[in-house]
Amino acid sequence: MSSYVDEIIEQVIKQNPSEPEFHQAVREVLESIRVVIEANEEKFRRDALLERLVNPERQIKFRVPWIDDKGDVHVNTGYRVQFNSAIGPYKGGLRLHPSVNLGIIKFLGFEQIFKNSLTGLPIGGGKGGSDFDPKGKSDREVMRFCQAFMTELCKYIGADTDVPAGDIGTGGREIGYMFGQYKKIRGLFEGVLTGKGLTYGGSLARTEATGYGLLYIVEELFKSHGADIADKTVVVSGAGNVAIYAIQKAQQLGAKVVTCSDSTGWVYDPEGIDVAALKQIKEVDRARLTEYKKYRPNSEYHEGRGVWAVKCDIALPCATQNELDVEDAVLLVENGVTAVCEGANMPTTEKATKYLQDNGVWFIPGKAANAGGVATSALEMSQNSERLSWTFEEVDAKLKNIMVNLYHNIDDAAKKYGFEGNYVVGANIAGFEKVLDAMNAQGIV
Ligand code: NDP
Repeated sequence: MSSYVDEIIEQVIKQNPSEPEFHQAVREVLESIRVVIEANEEKFRRDALLERLVNPERQIKFRVPWIDDKGDVHVNTGYRVQFNSAIGPYKGGLRLHPSVNLGIIKFLGFEQIFKNSLTGLPIGGGKGGSDFDPKGKSDREVMRFCQAFMTELCKYIGADTDVPAGDIGTGGREIGYMFGQYKKIRGLFEGVLTGKGLTYGGSLARTEATGYGLLYIVEELFKSHGADIADKTVVVSGAGNVAIYAIQKAQQLGAKVVTCSDSTGWVYDPEGIDVAALKQIKEVDRARLTEYKKYRPNSEYHEGRGVWAVKCDIALPCATQNELDVEDAVLLVENGVTAVCEGANMPTTEKATKYLQDNGVWFIPGKAANAGGVATSALEMSQNSERLSWTFEEVDAKLKNIMVNLYHNIDDAAKKYGFEGNYVVGANIAGFEKVLDAMNAQGIV
């Protein structure tokens, strides 16, 4: 009989054609947990455990008609994939980007199951979004889109069922418009979304959480190898929420970050990225990185991609999926990189990941390294439930504690199964074991 894991990987590819990112995410997880599955293969096969794991509990796809400032009507597609609720209500962001399709949302939702489990908090996995592009739209157009999107989505979400959050293209502004529409239609002021503004139920430190959490795990990784990140040179890709706060925390910890990028080009600043300038350009003016030189005349701006060619000790991909390929990995290794930790979801291709690991680079996958965002979202849910707000310091300390524990969980899981230093295997097994236990306990549902 052929291997159960191989059969399911094959089945996923056959049943979900044209969804390469979903195949990639499933392959990575199933290959990592192979050792657990094969130790008890007959039972898992009889229970159709893997079939239940790779098929979302529910997928919602809907039409989003909205009116632009000229009065013309546009129709986008909205998605919410409620993947797995074994350990808690579905939780995961909403991505607004023209590249969004069902396969992308499924890959993100699948990853989210294990990431959420790794946080140690009671949250299941889900993801959603739309192929709407907020770039170049007026505030009113973004508002009308968000309202139209929520008019349909509000039928399927709630504080105890499914709690979406931000992601690419969905920041504080979009969450605000969506929350307003949810409240208007459902008549409920409840913690149905996270990433809210501070005046209506948001949590301090949520904005910073993914980037800060990334640096907390990097710090612990170095510490546990008897090293320190102070004075290290760091390259970062992206110039959005994750990138900005990763750069800020890296600098606070004494490292020097010399790059950032957006979808059209990248910046090299040998004196260290000016976070205040970056925030002004991206968070306030919503402009391109070409503006950066106005603030820092000694910096360089280059069109296209290129951050991975810059010599560094630590590389932090914080933009989007598959942005670091094997050629980039070769350059990083040639330049002596010590660690690559993923701020974005699945930014490193399968081949690049393998190349980095084979060459002794410490590699932490996104589902562990960027889990600080969703963990702090879960802390926002807790605060909403008890109708209290915690201080920045309280939330930040909890976040740090979660990331430090998370590092040791994935490190221990890797060691336990004979894969010491392989944090991909460690993260997938540690995330899976909790979900498996909960699924087994709840029967075939
Ligand atoms: P933002 O929209 O705030 O920023 C995304 C950044 O990446 C922007 O600089 C954007 O460029 C760039 N980018 C987006 N798509 C592409 C592309 N196709 N090619 C090149 N550059 C691109 O998103 P976030 O910072 O929130 O998210 C970044 C990553 O982190 C995503 O993978 C997301 O899923 C992941 N993540 C985010 C979390 C969060 O809390 N926000 C939590 C966990 C993971 P431009 O400015 O030109 O648009």
